[in-house]
Amino acid sequence: MAEKRDYYEVLGVGKGSTKKDIKKAYRKLAMEYHPDVSKDPQAAEKFKEISEAYAVLSDDEKKHTYDQYGHAGMSGFSQEDIFSNINFEDIFRGFGFGGSSRGASGFETIFDIFGFGGGRRNGPQQGDDVLYETTITLEEAAKGLEDNIEVPHRKTCPRCNGSRAEPGTEPRTCDVCGGSGQVRQVQNTPLGQFATIRPCGNCRGEGTIIDSPCTSCLGKGIVSQKSNINIKIPPGVENGSRLRVPGEGDVGKRGGPPGDLYVLIRVKPHKLFKRDGSNLHYEQPISFVQASLGDKVEVPTLDSAVDLKIPAGTQSGTSFRIRGQGMPHLRWNGKGNLYVKVKVVTPKRLSPKQKELLEEFAEISGDEIYNEGKGFFDKVKDAISH
Ligand SMILES: [Zn+2]
Ligand SMILES: [Zn+2]
Repeated sequence: MAEKRDYYEVLGVGKGSTKKDIKKAYRKLAMEYHPDVSKDPQAAEKFKEISEAYAVLSDDEKKHTYDQYGHAGMSGFSQEDIFSNINFEDIFRGFGFGGSSRGASGFETIFDIFGFGGGRRNGPQQGDDVLYETTITLEEAAKGLEDNIEVPHRKTCPRCNGSRAEPGTEPRTCDVCGGSGQVRQVQNTPLGQFATIRPCGNCRGEGTIIDSPCTSCLGKGIVSQKSNINIKIPPGVENGSRLRVPGEGDVGKRGGPPGDLYVLIRVKPHKLFKRDGSNLHYEQPISFVQASLGDKVEVPTLDSAVDLKIPAGTQSGTSFRIRGQGMPHLRWNGKGNLYVKVKVVTPKRLSPKQKELLEEFAEISGDEIYNEGKGFFDKVKDAISH
């Protein structure tokens, strides 16, 4: 869509123009582009564009808002609001061309241009989506979970069945708008009748009047209630995933479909494991003796434990990969891996005997530092469990 043109530019007036100048500019353009007199195929579009610009710039409040915020500031006004202050009779007074016998045709023209017809205001409307948050553990995320949640949402009032009237009574047709929910305001001009349509004030656009509103929903036809809903969380679900449950949001308006329920899934951080997609990371402390001589240690997994062989001469920070002990993949079969990073712990307190032996070890070793090639870097080693 083309960007909306500046209202001043549309009317060809400067920002400092007086009300009189603005009106003069609009009258000139309106005569040129009135769809009943103009041969320009874009006349209707242009007529609407200049009328909208005039409607805003001729109204102090709207003009002030527009000067401050531009088109963005106008979003709070409905089309009806914007055009409400144009007095077509006044604009076209004294032009005296064309008969005033257009009647219905002039009427239709303006309907088409401003597009107020159609009764969209009274049409069916989809209900709002509802967001619900639930927190699960990493173990539950790994296994998947069937859960029953209690969700607050808006449903059709069971007492009046959505009719908004107390059972036994009936809504009656609004006698002001005859049930259409809209009222027309017709202005006579030399060019024919100009009609604008706005919601009926008597029934607030609903078309019906309820004399005895339902006592349960107070005439809203909708009540807030909690429903128990079964949800199925798939194995491998990620923190922050949203599960969509169709049709369990708020009830639709005027026969529209209901909204959807979105369940936001939070996965609690785990005490032992850090998650990275479908892989898990775990840090295993070992003694420097285990690192030097090699050993077999028991490493926890999400559902039990596995044995991990530490080869002799393992450096602190070395990672071992245990295949298939991570989280399930969401979209395909199989699981990620568990990465075990060993951390060599230096003892803080030694017994006299331990101290004596270490001193002896130091004497034999001299200043030599045992360095296993690229051992400073994390090398991932495959560990075969069991
Ligand atoms: Zn009710
Ligand atoms: Zn009405």
